Amino acid sequence: MAKPAPMDTDKIKGLVCRECGKEYPAVSLHVCDMCFGPLEVQYNYKAIKPRLTRKAIEAGPKSLWRYVDLLPIAGDPTVGLDAGFTPLVRAKNLGDELGLDKLYIKNDTVNHPTLSFKDRVVSVALTRARELGYDTVACASTGNLANSVAAHAAAAKMQCYVFIPHDLEASKVLGNLVYRPNVVEVEGNYDDVNRLCSEIAGEHKWAFVNVNIRPYYAEGSKTLAYEVVEQLGWEAPDHIVVPMASGSLLTKIWKGLNEFHKLGLIDRMATKVDGAQAEGCAPIATAHKLGRDFFKPVKPATVAKSLAIGNPADGYYALKATAESGGAMDMVTDEEIIEGMTLLAQTEGIFAETAGGVTIGVLKKLVKQGIIKRTETTVALITGNGLKTQEAVMNAVGRPTRISPSLVHFQKTFGLGNHER
Ligand SMILES: *Cc1c(COP(=O)(O)O)cnc(C)c1O
Repeated sequence: MAKPAPMDTDKIKGLVCRECGKEYPAVSLHVCDMCFGPLEVQYNYKAIKPRLTRKAIEAGPKSLWRYVDLLPIAGDPTVGLDAGFTPLVRAKNLGDELGLDKLYIKNDTVNHPTLSFKDRVVSVALTRARELGYDTVACASTGNLANSVAAHAAAAKMQCYVFIPHDLEASKVLGNLVYRPNVVEVEGNYDDVNRLCSEIAGEHKWAFVNVNIRPYYAEGSKTLAYEVVEQLGWEAPDHIVVPMASGSLLTKIWKGLNEFHKLGLIDRMATKVDGAQAEGCAPIATAHKLGRDFFKPVKPATVAKSLAIGNPADGYYALKATAESGGAMDMVTDEEIIEGMTLLAQTEGIFAETAGGVTIGVLKKLVKQGIIKRTETTVALITGNGLKTQEAVMNAVGRPTRISPSLVHFQKTFGLGNHER
């Protein structure tokens, strides 16, 4: 089933089982055939180190591909050439509000082309899928992944199937249909969709970005950590607050920071990686709060649909990463999520989706509890755009003030004197 891969022995060593350490070539495989553990890409850091300097990175393209030496593709990128390198915003107003002197927002609401962090993972996954000889791509998605796979597949002229739960936001459904992939709406939640996709992946020779080529896909998330460090002037932050669905992003933030440290690109690395979930779907954060290293799957019921994974594939590893880093995890209610969204919009002018509300809500809680301290450099990852989840805030933002087209009516309505100049 595994197609022969173009080998880049110089950079990619192969895949390795995260549990038993068994090694595999860099093919389309995601579980260990010995112990069923998940596989991860292994790099040849000795070969990478001499050529990967700050200067070399800074001279690279203004996209996530400036870090191509640490991404699992053999040749040049062919899909998603403009993804990544999104702004790191110094969030002075929000910091003042929350009691933080050095708060930054990593703004992936403007990622290219589909306005979420998923454009990172998909660029890497589809470039790799092409190298592995696939012409059909697919995914199981909570919304943003499907949007990104559909858009990139259209541009790359690849066949495409995206599988989504039946209850997604209108904009996320439309954001698939417009690219004309096969959009499959499954009567069930994400965990049902994912189970179905695992079965389909066993039957059809497709690149399921988050199933059979998941090890490559997941590596794209590391670029968020790389960019944060570079944009902070080659410094690792004290805290980084990460929204969690499957937990993959959080584990890769941790991996990315450690790689930069190991390669000598940063001198000091004491970053605490904090995980954020919605109360209505918080299997990972709940386990962390109970001091457990395993989680109990849940049935999701939250406004943060992009994070609604009840049985998170990387939950165990996310718990491990946060524990290793000395970080914390917490969860927020739907109400707090919407408060987080409007607070971010009204202080920084950034309209994030529900997942961003989760990040800001949890950030606020961790500051209040004294877990994140005023003087600590803190980065909040804002991973998706609010225009895709308008339903969530529709009732919280009020309506425009309606007037007749009359100067007097306008001035009266806003209590403005008519000779005010
Ligand atoms: C997918 C997604 C995440 C996190 O996903 P993981 O499965 O934990 O890697 C975070 N925010 C948004 C908006 C997403 O779409």
